[in-house]
Amino acid sequence: MAYICMHCSKETKTIEGFVRCVYCGGRILLKSRPNLQKEITTD
Ligand SMILES: [Zn+2]
Repeated sequence: MAYICMHCSKETKTIEGFVRCVYCGGRILLKSRPNLQKEITTD
Protein backbone atom coordinates (compact mmCIF):
# COMPACT_ATOMS: atom_id res chain seq x y z
CA MET A 1 0.00 0.00 0.00
CA ALA A 2 1.26 3.42 -0.88
CA TYR A 3 1.07 6.55 1.21
CA ILE A 4 1.28 10.21 0.36
CA CYS A 5 3.49 12.33 2.56
CA MET A 6 1.86 15.43 3.94
CA HIS A 7 5.13 17.30 4.05
CA CYS A 8 6.63 16.77 0.61
CA SER A 9 3.59 15.27 -1.12
CA LYS A 10 5.63 12.43 -2.44
CA GLU A 11 4.41 8.91 -2.60
CA THR A 12 6.12 6.47 -0.32
CA LYS A 13 5.58 2.87 0.52
CA THR A 14 5.33 1.49 3.99
CA ILE A 15 8.30 -0.23 5.36
CA GLU A 16 7.38 -3.25 7.39
CA GLY A 17 6.11 -2.03 10.73
CA PHE A 18 7.49 1.39 10.06
CA VAL A 19 5.44 4.14 8.49
CA ARG A 20 7.55 7.09 7.55
CA CYS A 21 8.32 9.11 4.47
CA VAL A 22 11.54 7.91 2.93
CA TYR A 23 12.18 11.33 1.40
CA CYS A 24 11.80 13.82 4.23
CA GLY A 25 11.29 11.52 7.19
CA GLY A 26 7.81 12.90 7.80
CA ARG A 27 5.49 10.72 9.76
CA ILE A 28 2.23 12.26 8.63
CA LEU A 29 1.06 10.22 5.71
CA LEU A 30 -2.19 9.83 3.87
CA LYS A 31 -3.29 6.47 2.62
CA SER A 32 -3.29 6.30 -1.11
CA ARG A 33 -6.37 4.53 -2.34
CA PRO A 34 -5.53 1.53 -4.52
CA ASN A 35 -8.28 2.20 -7.04
CA LEU A 36 -7.57 5.88 -7.32
CA GLN A 37 -5.81 6.61 -10.55
CA LYS A 38 -3.62 9.63 -10.85
CA GLU A 39 -5.71 11.10 -13.58
CA ILE A 40 -6.80 14.67 -13.29
CA THR A 41 -9.30 15.98 -15.75
CA THR A 42 -9.77 19.68 -16.18
CA ASP A 43 -13.03 20.15 -17.97
ZN1 LIG B 1 7.94 13.44 2.83
